Amino acid sequence: MILQKTLEEYFKWFHRHPELGNEEKETTAHIRDILTAAGVEILDTSLKTGLVAQISGTKSDSQSKSQNGQQKTPVVALRCDIDALPIDEASGVAYASENPHCMHACGHDFHITSMLGAALLLTQEKENLTGTIKLLFQPAEEGGGGAKQVLDSGVLDDVEEIYGLHVAADLEKNVIAVRPGATHAAVGSFKIVIRGKGSHAAYPHLSNDPLVASAAIITAAQTIVSRNTSPFEQAVVSITHVEGGSAWNVIPSEVLIEGTFRAFSEEKLNYLSERLAQICEGIGISYGLQVDYAWKRYTIATNNDPALAEFAAQTARDLGLTVIEGEPGMGGEDFALYQQKIKGVFWNIGVASPNGLHHPGFVANLEPLSTAAGLLARLGKGALERLAD
Ligand SMILES: [Zn+2]
Ligand SMILES: [Zn+2]
Repeated sequence: MILQKTLEEYFKWFHRHPELGNEEKETTAHIRDILTAAGVEILDTSLKTGLVAQISGTKSDSQSKSQNGQQKTPVVALRCDIDALPIDEASGVAYASENPHCMHACGHDFHITSMLGAALLLTQEKENLTGTIKLLFQPAEEGGGGAKQVLDSGVLDDVEEIYGLHVAADLEKNVIAVRPGATHAAVGSFKIVIRGKGSHAAYPHLSNDPLVASAAIITAAQTIVSRNTSPFEQAVVSITHVEGGSAWNVIPSEVLIEGTFRAFSEEKLNYLSERLAQICEGIGISYGLQVDYAWKRYTIATNNDPALAEFAAQTARDLGLTVIEGEPGMGGEDFALYQQKIKGVFWNIGVASPNGLHHPGFVANLEPLSTAAGLLARLGKGALERLAD
């Protein structure tokens, strides 16, 4: 109960003081202060925001043997993200954001607080830890390249397993969802610029109308999922931003289209992009316009190691928690980049919000804070025990 009260206080501070990706200066300083006061070691890294702390076990039999007979202490990592979103909060909570147009609407404040709770629990258990646990407070998850910064810093080079959490708005409080394989999609974004010829709207034959061509591209793009993708395969193509024209009596010379695609494999993501590029090219030819197409890959799909997913589920069950597999989602998560190099599991905890993630009315129930902290700590400790065996 003491832990829960402390965590609620921590949480409210972070919720009041959200910062966007790569700008999490106050957030990082506050995390640092809490960890330092608790006697937790903070590592030197090249990270400008975010930080990595470390708790090393002192258990005498904490050494495991590597193949060449040398002593090797297992290292695992627990990961949270710390950035907020450019959203005006409309949650109605007393501890709402004090920073204009910035809100912890993805629950990363919940993740930070859970990790701080895990740090407090693990420091009390140092003599029972059979290795080292790195606590990663990652910056800039929401498209700011945070995971790449962490990987480039080399701070995870010796890590054998990594565990990450995310709140689930639609799950009952304290329910844990963990599944093998993909939980989050590979994400790409695209930008299409249609360059035609503007004119007086009364003389369309003197123009080369990019608006009509944009309508054709938007309509044809819908067939990539409905006609080119198996009904048993998940894929999304969403057009989200269209800009062209500025007056009712002028045909513009240019139209911009932006959007995103998502899939659960790299091949599929590449395929979605290829098809869209073909559609752009074909419509450009048939309408006699120049259509420039470009896309960018944001993240690959997450990929939960099956054995570790079962370990995480069992660890949660051992704590008396309700565990379900949950559904994979088409949202992206840069935790996937760690899983390319390190075996890992990304799991969800229910916070029963009336509104979804990235919504101005998102409100996490705070009761699961100590549950999440307890599970993170137990995963770290349990993983070390298994690796030290
Ligand atoms: Zn998010
Ligand atoms: Zn998030």
